[in-house]
Amino acid sequence: MHIARAYCVQAGKVVDIYQARALFFEQEEPRRRFEFLCSYDTCRSANATRVTGVNYDKLVEDERDRILVKPHFRMNPETPHSVGCEWVARERAEEAADARDREPAQRRGMRSFRNLKSSDFVDVFLPAQLARGPPCESAESSRTSGAGREPTAADPVSTRTRAGRSKLTRVDFLETVVSAYELLEADERREAKLRIGREASLPYNRAFCRVERYFLARGARIFHGGVRVQAHGPNFSVRFFDRVIVPAPMRPGEARELVLYLKREALLQHWNGRFLTLQLAEATKPGHYAHCYFFGRVVDHPTLAERLAVEVRSLEHLAFTVRRRAIASKRATTSELISY
Ligand SMILES: [Zn+2]
Repeated sequence: MHIARAYCVQAGKVVDIYQARALFFEQEEPRRRFEFLCSYDTCRSANATRVTGVNYDKLVEDERDRILVKPHFRMNPETPHSVGCEWVARERAEEAADARDREPAQRRGMRSFRNLKSSDFVDVFLPAQLARGPPCESAESSRTSGAGREPTAADPVSTRTRAGRSKLTRVDFLETVVSAYELLEADERREAKLRIGREASLPYNRAFCRVERYFLARGARIFHGGVRVQAHGPNFSVRFFDRVIVPAPMRPGEARELVLYLKREALLQHWNGRFLTLQLAEATKPGHYAHCYFFGRVVDHPTLAERLAVEVRSLEHLAFTVRRRAIASKRATTSELISY
């Protein structure tokens, strides 16, 4: 059963898994794991239905049997849900649709993937605040009691609609899309489609584009690449390993270094900022490897002509994954298969 939100007992409210993670890392050490109950009121009052939060307490990606395990909620089989529970109802509706259609899922256009649950697949990335707002160093999202985002804002399920043909999952939090991308195998990335904003859908392997091809790619894309993270006092510099190819007529043949600067002060203004600063600090440690994803622009560096800089409008449009080297090298075989 897919559970997108749960009631966090310690926070006293319903959260999605990324909000739970942000709240977890807001705590001073030693941090305590949270208790979660079903988001549906009757489940809580009648059965105290427990839900388990998985991997929301990790800065470095977890891997089991060579498959990444992303933060998620899962059902706790010992405590039952009520009949009217939103997650039970959703599962029933999906089962009923399956039974009614009596066709294999793939023929109906539904997807099945080897490592990604179809309920965690993302069809549409709807970047928030596209039309307004300054770049990331003064990112707009406010931080109120640790998590300013409404739980429904980036929740794949709440905006899910069954439009007669297929369900579309829309999110505005980049990491949700990144999680889906990372769990798709290379062949699945060529088949599965992602729509970014109002642009035409693209296969995942084209919607996600290596940074070196920034100036060669057309339309809205999510750019990414391996990075070295360095701490500069309280702040961070993020340098991409790949240089960005600068095409004619700008400066043909040239490849420029790409950097991203993040000020701790600005990070901490954001509901997810404490997690990001701790994650970045972890990435600076020896034996760690980081990958950066962004939805934004590459602009001239403010002072150094040989460099370029990343600019994002909101920290929701920035995501990192941090792994230990042993894991990074095992996964390298998969990332090498990424085609453009
Ligand atoms: Zn329930």
